[in-house]
Amino acid sequence: MRLILLGPPGAGKGTQSSRLEQKFGIPQLSTGDMLRAAVKAGTPIGLQAKAIMESGGLVSDEIVVGIISARIDEPDCAKGFILDGFPRTVAQAKALDAMLKEKGMKLDAVIELVVDEKALVARMENRVKETLAAGGTVRADDNPEAFAKRLTSYREQTAPVSDYYRSVGELRPLNGMAAIDEVTAEINKALAA
Ligand code: ADP
Repeated sequence: MRLILLGPPGAGKGTQSSRLEQKFGIPQLSTGDMLRAAVKAGTPIGLQAKAIMESGGLVSDEIVVGIISARIDEPDCAKGFILDGFPRTVAQAKALDAMLKEKGMKLDAVIELVVDEKALVARMENRVKETLAAGGTVRADDNPEAFAKRLTSYREQTAPVSDYYRSVGELRPLNGMAAIDEVTAEINKALAA
């Protein structure tokens, strides 16, 4: 099972990916998580990505494509994987096509969580409150300025990725405004179809 989860920041991709991860026993590959780990570890990629991520911009296609290509080759991806936060530009989607072809792999589904943009800022604010209440560390890009930029990056660069998969007949749009369990049920239905 090789899946892509698309949707704006705050759409619930992370929540649904971890459920899919458990159900299918395949890893969730989040470029955001991998980049945050690189920033924390202070690797060369992390050093390049840090300021871009904090401002809400997009890291270069070259970097994320390289990260994903290497990650897919790991043994735990043999049964499949869930891509969360990648591809985020049409160039990344095309690079992914070429990469999968070269590795002799095929995508099974591209699921899009469609969410009303007005709800997203509130979801981010809620996540910040919950994180603070739990004594955790708030993401450096979970603040109004960076979040606004993340939404702009999404609108300008990632929304066309949905159009790309729609044009090749692979996109399965779902209502991401429904309750978490309902969204999970809809995803399962879409995957069984
Ligand atoms: P979000 O909640 O906004 O979807 P992520 O955790 O997926 O956040 O990503 C956080 C940041 O990491 C992005 O704003 C961007 O700077 C960088 N990033 C993650 N994935 C990609 C990607 N595929 N291409 C470019 N930049 C990325």
